[in-house]
Amino acid sequence: MYVKSLSLKGFKSFASATHLSLEPGITCIVGPNGSGKSNVVDALAWVMGEQGAKSLRGGKMEDVIFAGTAGRAPLGRAEVTMTIDNTDGALPIDYTEVTISRTMFRNGGSEYAINGTSCRLLDVQELLSDSGIGREMHVVVGQGQLDTVLRATPEERRGLIEEAAGVLKHRKRKEKALRKLETMEANLARVADLTTEIR
Ligand code: ATP
Repeated sequence: MYVKSLSLKGFKSFASATHLSLEPGITCIVGPNGSGKSNVVDALAWVMGEQGAKSLRGGKMEDVIFAGTAGRAPLGRAEVTMTIDNTDGALPIDYTEVTISRTMFRNGGSEYAINGTSCRLLDVQELLSDSGIGREMHVVVGQGQLDTVLRATPEERRGLIEEAAGVLKHRKRKEKALRKLETMEANLARVADLTTEIR
């Protein structure tokens, strides 16, 4: 599995439609300061469902939409599509090529699609989490983040390992199930009270 291409339109400094074709192995992006190298990495994190504006080096989520320049008006939406080569079947989906798209409008809200079909953020996260690309985005290590990893507490480090091993997804599911159980138990207690009152 590898990222085959990335298409950006209206994302940060990429106002015009831009297509980046990538090959297996190591890819280096070079360019002068402020030319948009980190924005490409931000686009990768964003399309995979990143929810934190700070992780994308912005103040609020809509900062990912092209804000305009002296010669070009701001845009109303940002779109990123990532194409993954899945010939090795690393992603649990019956396609050898998988596209994941995210679109965001200035008035809020993101839309996601897998292979052109609209889906929820959860579907994107679930699809990627089995492949080791977890929702916490530790696969994208930004400038200065290496330091954070090196200084992590044992608990934080355990979180990273759990995510890489795919344990985190099951932990989240367990927490969700436990919350549901708690609600059910409260409902059952209420039913028992009502039954006693009626008798
Ligand atoms: P460096 O080598 O200094 O780390 P870089 O090549 O990684 O730089 P980026 O940080 O990716 O550069 O890009 C910064 C540029 O992106 C700035 O010029 C900034 O104005 C522009 N930019 C960021 N967000 C937006 C936005 N929403 N609209 C327009 N331009 C934006």
